[in-house]
Formats: sequence, structure tokens, C-alpha cells
Amino acid sequence: MLILHCPYCGVDADETELHAGGEAHVKRYGPGSSDAEFESYLFVRENPKGVHFERWRHANGCGKWFHAARCTSTLEVFGTYSAQTTEPPQEIKDKISAKRPGWSWREFA
Ligand SMILES: [Zn+2]
Repeated sequence: MLILHCPYCGVDADETELHAGGEAHVKRYGPGSSDAEFESYLFVRENPKGVHFERWRHANGCGKWFHAARCTSTLEVFGTYSAQTTEPPQEIKDKISAKRPGWSWREFA
């Protein structure tokens, strides 16, 4: 069972308390963007086997959205953090790099 720590209320919530919200850190394109950029914003998502960043909502708790860094193949959770960020905190990136040598941000393969 997937258990994620809510960074707002401090609860270690299992997945029955949470609602998945898809990929985190999706770059948004607005007016003036190309068709390809807007298409990527609407439809293109990563689906890695390994390190992934996701949006989750503590639906049956505080109700707030947060981000989680985890491995999709092992369910190992590297950390959770505020959704009010444009990229993962350095401490989470360092933790992932220590466990997955060669990994780098935005390199999902
Ligand atoms: Zn919460």
C-alpha cells in the first residue's frame, strides 16, 4: 500500500485518504504559444518506470494538494513537498540521486 506524508498536516496517509492528480510540474502554455506547445500541455505526460513526480490531494484529510517524488516500479517514496513549487526541493533531488546514481531532474528515462 502506498503511504504518503502530507506536508501540510503531518499525517502519514495511505492511498485511501488520497486522490491522485497526475503528473507534477507540467509546464503550462497560454496565449501566443505554438500548437505543439499547447498540445504538450494538454495531452503529453511522462509515464516512467522509475522516478516520477506526482500531484496528490489529501482528500480525506486537510484537503490540500501536494507533490510526491516516488519510484513507480518499487513504490519507494523519496519525499513529499508543497505544491507551490516549480521543481522538487534540493533535499529530495539529493535523496533520489543517492539512491538512483545517474538520475537527474527532468531525465525520466
Ligand atoms: Zn493533509
